[in-house]
This record gives sequence, structure tokens and C-alpha cells, in this order.
Amino acid sequence: MSLHIKHLVVIGIGLIGGSVALALRRAGCVGRITGVGRSVENLEEAVRLGVIDDFSHDIATAVADADMVLLAVPVAACDQVFAALAKSLPDKAVVTDAGSTKQSVMASAEKYLRDASRFVPAHPIAGTEYSGAAAAFAELFDDKKCILTPNEKTDVKALARVQSMWEAVGSRVKIMSAAEHDDVLAAVSHLPHLAAFAIVNAVGKGDAAFRFAAGGFRDFTRIASSSPEMWRDIALCNQSAIVDKIDALQEELSALRDALKAHDGDALLDKFTSAKQARDIWMSKYGDKL
Ligand code: NAD
Repeated sequence: MSLHIKHLVVIGIGLIGGSVALALRRAGCVGRITGVGRSVENLEEAVRLGVIDDFSHDIATAVADADMVLLAVPVAACDQVFAALAKSLPDKAVVTDAGSTKQSVMASAEKYLRDASRFVPAHPIAGTEYSGAAAAFAELFDDKKCILTPNEKTDVKALARVQSMWEAVGSRVKIMSAAEHDDVLAAVSHLPHLAAFAIVNAVGKGDAAFRFAAGGFRDFTRIASSSPEMWRDIALCNQSAIVDKIDALQEELSALRDALKAHDGDALLDKFTSAKQARDIWMSKYGDKL
């Protein structure tokens, strides 16, 4: 499908919204790009950097002439954003998002949009620990996966258009259900982020150990520098799947603790070996595509 977007409105001009805008410009398939956000400084910087052409603080005004709308705000803000854009969204417009949780965002769309069939949920599996328009770059999605989670009501033409858009920014599109997405991402993304926050807090308490931390600590905790606001929202919007994964982690930690207290070297070796084998296989299969 050859893609041309006449007027793209991006709500939330941060790392993800800004990078989609830059990547669509690079692909030459977008006319005007309007940004909507909260901070004037960030939006002015986005204009200066060529990320967007113009901006507005009013969602309803901004989307009145849009043919494509992208929500790139923290996931808990989606309720409020859908409510505002429903007031003036043209019938022809297609809406997508970039949120890290999918069932919660789809529920917001169902609640507020007159025709939720033209909302095609998406989650690009690409990112960094940096935020804001200045962090955006056109290559962010190159050869990275983007998961779409349409349901039985999703309009097929809207789905094809959104798939083309995510392919135009460089990503490889995969399709799955929202429930499967939320369960898988709770395991491989949400749990590691919560664990990284927890490790930094545990080490940071009352100890000068940070002074001696080296590359291993840096690599393990890189994602603890991510936006706290964004991660609060992700945790709350995927609560039950994440709680399950925390329970599984707690069981693993308890098994390690028990083995350690019992000086059971064989049990420790079993745990470490099975984890190393699983990670080595994963890296050999997918490591060059990350
Ligand atoms: P970001 O903090 O860089 O940008 C978010 C922007 O949204 C900010 O400019 C903020 O001011 C704005 N915003 C917040 N609430 C708003 C509202 N109510 N109305 C208008 N603007 C609002 O965050 P990001 O990394 O670009 O993340 C955006 C979305 O993409 C989130 O839903 C996140 O879960 C998802 N995501 C992030 C990553 C990542 O690694 N950063 C990866 C994939 C998906």
C-alpha cells in the first residue's frame, strides 16, 4: 500500500511521538505534522528541530483536519486524550497509538470514540531511557518490531493504513491479541523495569556501594533511568499481569535464598546454568535483531 498522510497530528511529542514524526519525514510520506503537548518549551524545541511544523495545546482543534492521529502519551493519559479528540475527530481519520500496554488503551478508545473500529492499537518495541522531543531520532524504529493488536471490530482499511505507517518508519509489524501482548510484555519488559528500579533502591539504601559499581551494574540498571511517570502508568495499566510476573520472580529469589542459606551449591549451579542456557539460546537466535 503506498502511503501518504496529508495531516498527521501527534499527541505527545516525546521520544516516541517525535521519532515517528522524524521517521515519516525521512520516508517522504507525510505532509503537515502538528504536535500537541503540555509544555510550550518542548513543543517550541520540536519545531526548531524540524520534528513538527506547528503545535496546539487543544486536542479537539488540532485533530479537526487530521487524516492520521498518533497518541504517544503515557498510557494512563489515554482516557483523557480520547475523550478530548472524540469531540472533533473527522470520520475519515485513522487513529493509532504507541502505548506500552494495549488492553487499557483499547478500553479507553471503546469508551470515548464514536467509531473505535478506526483505532488500530500499536506498540513499537523500540526505545531508550531518554524522554522529550530532543531525544527523538528518525532511526529509532529501524528493523525493530512493532506489535499491532487489532480485534474483530477493527476496520481492515484502517489496519492496512496503520500497518503501512509503522512499516514506513522502519519497523517490522507483528500482529497479536491485546491480552497476549500484555502478558508477554509484562514478562520481558515490565518486570525487568520494575526489577531495575527495585535493585537501584535496594543498593542505594544507606550504603556507599554506588562508588564501586561498574559495567555490570550499569548494564543491569540502565532502564531504571527511564521516565518514572511513564512507568507508573504502565505498571497501573497492566497491573494483574505484572503482579503475576513479580510473584514468579519472588519465587525464584526465594529458591536462590534457600539454596544459599543451605550452602546448596548444586541447587545454585542448576539455577545459574538453566538461566545461562536460556539466555544464550535467545541471544544466538535474536541477538543481532535487537
Ligand atoms: P516521553 O516522556 O518522551 O513523551 C511523552 C510526551 O507526552 C511528553 O512530551 C509529555 O509532556 C506528553 N504528555 C503527557 N501527558 C499528556 C497529555 N495528557 N496530553 C498531551 N501530551 C501529554 O515518553 P515516550 O517515551 O515518548 O513514551 C510515549 C508512549 O510510548 C508511552 O505510552 C510509552 O508507554 C510508549 N513507549 C515508550 C517506549 C520507550 O522506550 N520510551 C517504547 C515503546 C513505547
